[in-house]
Amino acid sequence: MTVKLVVHRATQEIGGNCVEVTASGGQRLLLDIGRPLDAARGATDLLPATLDLGGAPATILISHPHQDHYGLLQAAPAAWPVHSGAATEKLIKLTAAIVGEPITRDFRTWNSDRPFQAGPFTVTPFLTDHSAFDAYMLLIEVEGRRILYSGDFRLHGRKSSLVTRFMSKPPDDIDVMLLEGTNLGADKPWMSEDELEAQFCRLFGETRGRVFVAWSAQNIDRTVTLYRACLKTGRTLVVDLYTAEVLELLGEYANLPRAGWKQIRVVITSAFANLYRARGNEAFVSRMAEHGIAARRLAETPSEWVVMTRKSLIRDYFRQNVTPDADDAWSWSMWRGYLDGADGQAMQAWLGCNGARACHLHTSGHASPDDLRKFASAMQAGCVVPIHGAAWDTHAAGFDAIRRLGDGEPLVI
Ligand SMILES: [Zn+2]
Ligand SMILES: [Zn+2]
Repeated sequence: MTVKLVVHRATQEIGGNCVEVTASGGQRLLLDIGRPLDAARGATDLLPATLDLGGAPATILISHPHQDHYGLLQAAPAAWPVHSGAATEKLIKLTAAIVGEPITRDFRTWNSDRPFQAGPFTVTPFLTDHSAFDAYMLLIEVEGRRILYSGDFRLHGRKSSLVTRFMSKPPDDIDVMLLEGTNLGADKPWMSEDELEAQFCRLFGETRGRVFVAWSAQNIDRTVTLYRACLKTGRTLVVDLYTAEVLELLGEYANLPRAGWKQIRVVITSAFANLYRARGNEAFVSRMAEHGIAARRLAETPSEWVVMTRKSLIRDYFRQNVTPDADDAWSWSMWRGYLDGADGQAMQAWLGCNGARACHLHTSGHASPDDLRKFASAMQAGCVVPIHGAAWDTHAAGFDAIRRLGDGEPLVI
């Protein structure tokens, strides 16, 4: 009996994950079907050339709702079954609807720590700590072999105890571990979300006017960090309609701050409101307006607000006389590299144009190099296949039994 593993993409780069496991009978399982992070907007034909689209349908498992893990789903044959966490399905479908490319195919959803069967494969998902909500590690068992897929994870977020518990009682006899290595070779601070919260508290306290913060609406740990810092400093967190929708949607799965809670307001801007109305969602806009404020309010009592900032909000803010000034501060709370993109540059120009103080407060969604090594050592896998990293060739010291593969190169287990 021969079990074969192929990493179609992500042995040499961060993201675009696509890993195939084939059983001896030819049944296939795909771990993620991600879009490469460097793909141009609108680019098509991005599926890896080594992935066979004919033959037996492959069952797709989506580890978490980040584009570099699910972004090519629509390019996969419609007959291929898809499994993911329940919140992951909702987030993926919500994002797809927003960008006008709705996903209508059915997902089957899993529960953490509950094994399920996909053909000859037994799959056990383990909820993990990552900047995406509802992210999982996946244990695949087939024909006596055991493969652990780390997905994306960290040990310094609000759910770090999930990973430390997993490390204290790892699965037995892992033959192959596919391990992410995003932060190998990087040199940055690895602070916890709690430490970050303390830094935001300081910034909110020191700032006379508003604090404008750019963060991802789907980075729920960060929304919680900002909300807690607001509660501690007497400010109100202002989120946009999209973020309000994400928080409402996830309220089913976790006790998260949302519209209607104290010290959180939804800013109703015309660009976003029109987008929702065009999708026939007037009722949502009206419901959110009950907990909403108009953008002009942000100009009236500046010291009250921590203001969500994204490119698509700037025009409406500007029209309502909301422009950062020397009393204000702004914080980029995402990966610094995004500041170099066209949207990042435009935002930086607007945020800094009148002398508002800049402050980069952020912590990574991925494990530090030390934590990656600790995790690998705890798992005791027969071999470690590096993926989702750009520095594995120069920073593999401290990992045992590395089995370096190229994209598309098969490994018989
Ligand atoms: Zn990723
Ligand atoms: Zn991710």
